[in-house]
Amino acid sequence: MRERYFDNAATTPIDPRVLREMLPFLESEFGNPHSIHSFGMRAMAAIDQARERIATLINAEDPSQIVFTSGATEANNWILRQFQENPGGWISPFEHSSVREPGEQYGYRALSNQGLSLTRPDHLSGLVSVMSVNNELGVRWDVRDFTGGAVSLHSDLTQQVGKLATDVEGLDYASFSAHKFYGPKGVGALCIQAQSPEPFFFGGEQEEGLRSGTLNVPGIIGMGAAAAIALDQQESDEAHVRDLRSIVLENLRLPDIRVNEGTAQSPYILSISFQGLEGETLLVEADQAGYAISAGAACSSKATEPSHVLTTLGLEKEWLRGTVRISFGRFNTQESALGLAKALCFAVERIRDF
Ligand code: PMP
Repeated sequence: MRERYFDNAATTPIDPRVLREMLPFLESEFGNPHSIHSFGMRAMAAIDQARERIATLINAEDPSQIVFTSGATEANNWILRQFQENPGGWISPFEHSSVREPGEQYGYRALSNQGLSLTRPDHLSGLVSVMSVNNELGVRWDVRDFTGGAVSLHSDLTQQVGKLATDVEGLDYASFSAHKFYGPKGVGALCIQAQSPEPFFFGGEQEEGLRSGTLNVPGIIGMGAAAAIALDQQESDEAHVRDLRSIVLENLRLPDIRVNEGTAQSPYILSISFQGLEGETLLVEADQAGYAISAGAACSSKATEPSHVLTTLGLEKEWLRGTVRISFGRFNTQESALGLAKALCFAVERIRDF
């Protein structure tokens, strides 16, 4: 089943090795990591190990820079809110809604773009937030291109961590989620390498008082396990998805299609527009053939609205609506990639004939 799942940018299946490491923490190791008896201390030791594994994966200087959250949404909201008092923050126009919406609410300005290139304004100030890999297109940017003066840098690394080599050096803040790299849902982190933000949650003073609330122990253990696996096989995973992406592209022998990609591009994501078609119709056709892909902004529940990323990119209407996203992962196979390409060709020809 996992082989035909090509929506790995929305979420990934949990790796069985991750699940195995999590299970004891849902059964016998139920201690609260903040209790000082041995049940609690065993849980805390496991949390410490997870924090170390995650810090190593992203090359953070110290594990204490990792603050666990419920995911990238919380981490993004948290850091954007922190800088709301500093006038003149900037976000890229391609951000995920968990950056874009607080950005709009707190008066951040959008960096301007020419196609997929971001333009550096004359005067930068406050927090600059630019995602490292776009979740719809797979295009890559580096917020460190905007370094200078008193600017603080934040990057949403959700589509990068655990998938592509990551080094947070030079970033003040970075966000990510475990479920994008074969870990569990509902857990993520903000990596803090500059002044700590004011807490968002208040209570039991967990996470050095920065994020109160009993830690999601099984989730964090799973995130740590997923990080350790990624460290070990990130390179081979990347080569694997690169191969699958080429297989799909080579076998989509159809007229009137375009690939939406940048010069710096993640191989995990393939955005294709089929002129004059509806992306959602293709999604349903693919689903009936047993393949999961996505149309437009898949992480949004408002799936029918035209995607702001595609409109910002300047895609004309006849292409815009016919855009689908195929996102690859560890468990897809060459055979399933070929099968997906064939299923799409069949569906497109049939719809166009009709
Ligand atoms: N940022 C990006 C780039 C994403 O792709 C997602 C997930 N769709 C998020 C943030 C939010 O992650 P989560 O839903 O795990 O909080």
